[in-house]
Amino acid sequence: MTNKTDNLEAMTRCGVCRSKFGKEDIFLISDDPAKTIFHTTCPGCRTAVLVLLSNGQNGLLGMEMITDLDREEAKEKLNTRAITADEVIGVYKALK
Ligand SMILES: [Zn+2]
Repeated sequence: MTNKTDNLEAMTRCGVCRSKFGKEDIFLISDDPAKTIFHTTCPGCRTAVLVLLSNGQNGLLGMEMITDLDREEAKEKLNTRAITADEVIGVYKALK
């Protein structure tokens, strides 16, 4: 994937207050060819959010999940249990 950070910026706004996430707030948790996971904290309301980007059949998918994990905890948890792209897409569809 190229320009991931640009894609992320274009598609991610806080689900709570609609503030746009800033580049400086984005922390890379996990990156592999199938998916990328970021942790970010909303600059508006300080809500912590996990952002998952995945290459789906129709192009890049992005989804947000509000979390109570801080970035170190998120990294620890997400890297001890592999999340597959299929799981990401499944959650994405369920939320639609
Ligand atoms: Zn917010």
